[in-house]
This record gives sequence, C-alpha cells and structure tokens, in this order.
Amino acid sequence: EDVRLRLNVEVTVASDSPPAPAPIESFEDMLLHPSIMKDITYHGYTRPTSIQAQAMTVALSGRDLLGCAQTGSGKTAAFAIPMIQHCLAQSPIWRGDGPLALVLAPTRELAQQIEKEVKCFSRSLECFRTAIVVGGTNIADQRSELRAGVDVIVATPGRFIDHLQQGNTSLSRISFIVLDEADRMLDMGFEPQIREVLHNLPKRHQTLLFSATMPVEIEILTQEYLTTPVQIKVGKVSS
Ligand code: ADP
Ligand code: MG
Repeated sequence: EDVRLRLNVEVTVASDSPPAPAPIESFEDMLLHPSIMKDITYHGYTRPTSIQAQAMTVALSGRDLLGCAQTGSGKTAAFAIPMIQHCLAQSPIWRGDGPLALVLAPTRELAQQIEKEVKCFSRSLECFRTAIVVGGTNIADQRSELRAGVDVIVATPGRFIDHLQQGNTSLSRISFIVLDEADRMLDMGFEPQIREVLHNLPKRHQTLLFSATMPVEIEILTQEYLTTPVQIKVGKVSS
C-alpha cells in the first residue's frame, strides 16, 4: 500500500464561519514540538497524507473537526500528533491531576493500534504517559496506572466508564477528545457511554470526531457536541 497514491485523493473541506485554515502540506511547516518532529522522522513519515495535511492544520488551530475518511488514509497520526502537541501546550502538566486527552475507539485492537502510534510520536518526550484502558485486561493494573497519573488515555467506552465510576480517573482536566470510528462505536451500542463522556467534559475542550460513514446519529452527535466544526471528507462518503 503506497501512501503517495493516497496523497492525491479528493479532499473536500467545509466550514460555517470561521473559514477552515489552509492545509499545511509539510510536517516541518506545522511548527511541532522538536521531539514530536524527531519521532515523525524516525517513524518514516516524510510528508502528510491529504487528510493529515487538512486535519492536522485544523486540529492544531484548536478547532473542532468532523473527519470522514475511509480506512488507510492515515487518520491515527492526524489526531495523535495534534493531541500530543496540545498536551505539551498545557502548562504546567501536574502529574496525578487526571488526563489531558482522551481517545475513544470501538475495539480493543483498534485502541491498541492507536496507543502504539501515540507512543511512537511521544517516545522522545520525557515523562509523557499514555495509558490504554480496554476490556479483557486486568482492571486492577489499569487502576494503579491511572491513579499514578497519565497524560493521554486511549480507551474503549465501556471500560473507560467503569474506571470513571470507580473514581480511578476523571474528566476534569480533559481538554482534547477524539472519537475514532464513531459510526462503529454507535453500531456496537456505545452511544450512552459516549454521551456520558461528552456531557461531562469541562466546558473548554476540543473535539475531533472521525467516522467512515455519516449516519443521522452521527450528524446529531455532531450538532449536539461539536462547536463550529471544520468538516473534512476524503473521497466518497456514504450515509
Ligand atoms: P486510518 O486510521 O485512516 O485507517 P492509519 O492511521 O491506520 O489509517 O494509517 C494507515 C497506514 O498508513 C499505517 O500503516 C500508517 O503507518 C501509514 N501512514 C499514515 N500516515 C503516513 C504518512 N504520512 N507517511 C507514511 N505512512 C503513513
Ligand atoms: Mg483508523
């Protein structure tokens, strides 16, 4: 699979006011933290894919984002890199005060892939902690990891809510949230958990929602919880 082929797919961007920022076509021009830049190079990414150029620019500008793109277009880095950059901009990062960013994903496997990628782009940073919170793994281990303090949590919705209810983590400092493969999360019945999270976030936060399809339930969530989002579509998106 050749990323260069995907660089030319059609990308459409829509936004009510204010207009969407113009895409930045190179990682160097995105003014990322030098450690993140180093890790991008180490990871072998030489230039952003089309969705990355668009989505990263939007996310780095602080806007909410609704991203519709098929798998394989490089969405993980598109949110992971701005998320890490966002966490570094929260200063000072008090350990133990609760996570700054949260990624919700439909399955354990997907959460694991995302966590791996977040770790790839934060490996040169000192003391940047990412926790994975998924079902089918030891909840006591997760509890101690969360209680020790983390910057980013990558989770499946059910297990994340379990930890919230047990008081092992909190939403009080989350200012960046990503819903990856939101349509699949809804198909799997996670809408109540997603709403529970979105409803209880601090007032000031940035939301990125990615979905391969745009069913009406996603449109409703978007209208309820995203603030003047920039909409990015790559290729054809069915409803
Ligand atoms: P999606 O979430 O859209 O399905 P992924 O984030 O899983 O896509 O990326 C698909 C593949 O493309 C992965 O193997 C990833 O490492 C690779 N990839 C993503 N962005 C780039 C890039 N800018 N340069 C090279 N490879 C990339
Ligand atoms: Mg993905």
